[in-house]
Amino acid sequence: PQHDRVGDLVAHAHERYASVDDGTVADYIPVLAEADPAWFGLSLASIDGRCHSAGDTGIGFSIQSISKAFVFALVCDAIGHDEIRRVVGVDNTGMAFNSVVAIELNGGSPMNSMVNAGAIATTALMPATNADERWALIRDGLSRFAGRPLMLDGEVYRSESFTNHRNQALARLLQSYDRLAIGPREAVDIYTRQCSLSVTADDLAVMGATLADGGVNPITGEQVVSAETSRDTLALLAACGMYERSGEWLFEIGIPAKSGVAGGIVAIAPGKGAVGAFSPRLDSAGNSVRGQRACAYLSRALGLNLFASA
Ligand code: GLU
Repeated sequence: PQHDRVGDLVAHAHERYASVDDGTVADYIPVLAEADPAWFGLSLASIDGRCHSAGDTGIGFSIQSISKAFVFALVCDAIGHDEIRRVVGVDNTGMAFNSVVAIELNGGSPMNSMVNAGAIATTALMPATNADERWALIRDGLSRFAGRPLMLDGEVYRSESFTNHRNQALARLLQSYDRLAIGPREAVDIYTRQCSLSVTADDLAVMGATLADGGVNPITGEQVVSAETSRDTLALLAACGMYERSGEWLFEIGIPAKSGVAGGIVAIAPGKGAVGAFSPRLDSAGNSVRGQRACAYLSRALGLNLFASA
């Protein structure tokens, strides 16, 4: 559609859902509980580099689980489609993002890179000679997706580092099955750092649009990952990006997406662009309530559903 119309639709989606107050702000990571439940930002970037924003699109928040999508892309690009599929897997667990049972029921496999265990295993697969280099590759790689240097939110990193006992346990469990390429402490530490990178809704839209554009950042023009890796990442997001609600999301909205517990969502329309949404009130699976409604609205209004023939 015409760009003026896209801008109007983004503004309208924001206005329409800004007063929805279902859901609750995450508090299992203490500092996240301080988020203002009223925050709501909506941004759309198309592959020709145009952006439309409404609301709090400049407020920084921690990327959290959305980092999993982009770290997967970097690692898949580095080690290849077959290896990531063999070592981590690409099937939905049907269980919560931090489930221990999912690992036990699947012979020690973390199942996919979008749940915590699989994300920790994926981070560990980033080829590097030491922890500093591995972290730099991840931070710089995510920054290339965003088209600007992303910074660590030290407060989130510390808050999560003091309380991430469950992620430590998941990493140890993977280690016991010989499924972790590096030591569990380092793997969880780098995973925690990647989750603590601060982004805005505008950043998420550009990061998503890069995957929509075959790995080329539509603002900087840089090829961040290959077109094949972008395709693989979107396929994995369709299957696993919205936790155990991935099926419901695809049924209602019809495009690959990833959410995070700070309230971010990136929803990606291949070959077209991406929506970045931010609002901290979450449903019981950990997905932003207003973000989901706004993505559903924009998917319908802009005809983004991948499964629609007309
Ligand atoms: N850093 C969070 C955790 O590991 C990410 C969870 C999420 O966004 O789903 O628990």
